Amino acid sequence: MTNKVTIVGSINVDRILQIDQLPQPGETIRMQDFSIAAGGKGANQAVAAARSGAQTSFIGAVGQDLDGQMMLHKLRDNQVNTNAIEVMNSSATGQAYILLQATGQNSIIISAGANADVSADQVKANQALIAQADFVMAQFETPLAATIQAFEIAQANRTITILNPAPATEALSEELLQLTDIIVPNETEAANLTGIEITDETSMRAAADKFFAMGVKVVIITLGSRGVFVARAGFDKIIPAVTVTAVDTTAAGDTFIGSLASELNADFSNLEAAIVYANRASALTVQKLGAFPSIPTRAEVAASI
Ligand code: ADP
Repeated sequence: MTNKVTIVGSINVDRILQIDQLPQPGETIRMQDFSIAAGGKGANQAVAAARSGAQTSFIGAVGQDLDGQMMLHKLRDNQVNTNAIEVMNSSATGQAYILLQATGQNSIIISAGANADVSADQVKANQALIAQADFVMAQFETPLAATIQAFEIAQANRTITILNPAPATEALSEELLQLTDIIVPNETEAANLTGIEITDETSMRAAADKFFAMGVKVVIITLGSRGVFVARAGFDKIIPAVTVTAVDTTAAGDTFIGSLASELNADFSNLEAAIVYANRASALTVQKLGAFPSIPTRAEVAASI
């Protein structure tokens, strides 16, 4: 069975500036290298879902500029339906400037641009894409009002909602969590949202209980190279990651979520198997540089076993 997955989310162009070290105020430095790559959490998750075989649609926005054209092409090349992506006259395509130091440390400056224009009205105008989907996914790089609207439409149509509460924020919307079926935070995001520092399984269970109390049905905390902690009523478990040598963890979480949405049955009957699949997919992502180029296809995941 092919899952239908709709993403309400962000589209960015990443500009990666490789430098020795960050410049001091007033200082001028030379770049060692420069590259441009497709990114944005929403776009990464869409490509991950589509490459794993899901019928994938996107509700989002880009600017009327070359970056926007590039991103629309890249998404279409990956079989993502871009009909519900608006091209805005008055905003530029979202940008991320990634200052990558020789030490490997990242400093990132984001300009939301057109991502900030994604509205509840736009979501409503495209509600059929949510009503007909098995899963709808959202992150925190587009406005909350649009995500709440999407999740309300999903709930009214028995579409499962998946929230990736990233990037980390202190602000917790109880309204949104009440509409969330599956939440997939990393450890930092789980700690920020629940106020519980994630140190061991006891703290993971306590964080999961907080999410359950807010109406979430399945909690999946991603633990980097340790895998994931999964919990639903009366059940929890650590499912280990695949042991690999990571070269770049960009888009690891996005690959996990996108491929999970492609693999999971809407009744959660194969929850553990779908997580094993998503762990395999994201273990491939961390072994390659970049976001889009590192996200595997279903065939590549199958071949990696
Ligand atoms: P995020 O990128 O959102 O911070 P994580 O770092 O928790 O998310 O990674 C998400 C998933 O990617 C993990 O649950 C795991 O399956 C996989 N992963 C991340 N880092 C590694 C690694 N070093 N080795 C193997 N798998 C990894």
